[in-house]
Amino acid sequence: MTRILIIYTGGTVGMMQDASSKTLRPIGFEEIKNNFPELERLNYQWDVFTFDPPLDSSDMNLEVWARIAGIIEDNYGDYSGFVILHGSDTMAFTASALSFMLENLDKPVVLTGSQLPIGAIRTDARENIITAMEIAADRTGGKATVPEVCIYFDYQLFRGNRAKKYNAEKFEAFYSMNYPALAEAGVAINYRRQYILPAPEKPLRIHKTLKPDVAVLKIFPGITLQTVEAVLNTPGIRGVVMETYGSGNTFTAPWFIQALSRAIDRGLVILNITQCDGGAVELGRYETSKHLLEVGVVSGYDMTFEAAVTKMMYLFSFDLPAGEIKKLLETPLRGELNYPASYL
Ligand code: ASP
Repeated sequence: MTRILIIYTGGTVGMMQDASSKTLRPIGFEEIKNNFPELERLNYQWDVFTFDPPLDSSDMNLEVWARIAGIIEDNYGDYSGFVILHGSDTMAFTASALSFMLENLDKPVVLTGSQLPIGAIRTDARENIITAMEIAADRTGGKATVPEVCIYFDYQLFRGNRAKKYNAEKFEAFYSMNYPALAEAGVAINYRRQYILPAPEKPLRIHKTLKPDVAVLKIFPGITLQTVEAVLNTPGIRGVVMETYGSGNTFTAPWFIQALSRAIDRGLVILNITQCDGGAVELGRYETSKHLLEVGVVSGYDMTFEAAVTKMMYLFSFDLPAGEIKKLLETPLRGELNYPASYL
């Protein structure tokens, strides 16, 4: 029998506008249900696990991800799929993190939320939640149709570690520039099966403890040695996600390349991803990225920022030598990256 577990973490989806102060305040799931009678009409069973208090997703962190993964672990055998109600602000981070934490997933984990609270007349919450539930419940040939961590928002289903919140106002808050949508919902839900990962035959393994030993270096014209050194020498870090221009380019000043080289020599992993939302890093394509390749910067190819940060946090949770981490960073583990055509 189909059974779905809704994990309600918080977000705008579960907020109500206070009539006098006009601020949005979180409400409990009971109140959500009162605003949403359609939930009772679904022809499968569902239960709810509610965070108390519900969180604005800006407060997401590694402990909360571990808690979500633990709830999925404890209930994995009893449910056919999971729907996580979550604020949109950090939804792509949570989806990316969970994609790495839930190894060999063979059931859908669909994150959704909304731009307008459930109680608002024009809310997008109803459609988002109902269709996320339908996707989590959908089966093909006795197996889950989408055995992946994904984000459903505004009629589109994205692979979680490929999605990005790009708009704070439109109902279409997310896109996935480097990977096609896994499904589009219209009158019917059209699954694009060729893009959905097959369910692995191995048992689920849950990795709950990510490591936060990651810093970010965003390159901009005029960045100083002090700033670069401050990031590279952040106490406790083991890796840096470096956001570069275009297909992975940076400026070529010797002081900069030498600073990177020194950091890599003392064991820091530097992962290059592009500041562009679409396209991939291709180290060595231009003179301006050849030096990065030479000093041992790792290519993040077409990974999103969210996937890059959480993948590093995931890989640092294993006690692996830097060389092995670098190899795994450049290898697709959960469909989070593709190599550019020129590499194939
Ligand atoms: N600040 C809210 C959150 O991320 C926004 C939203 O839910 O869309 O929790």
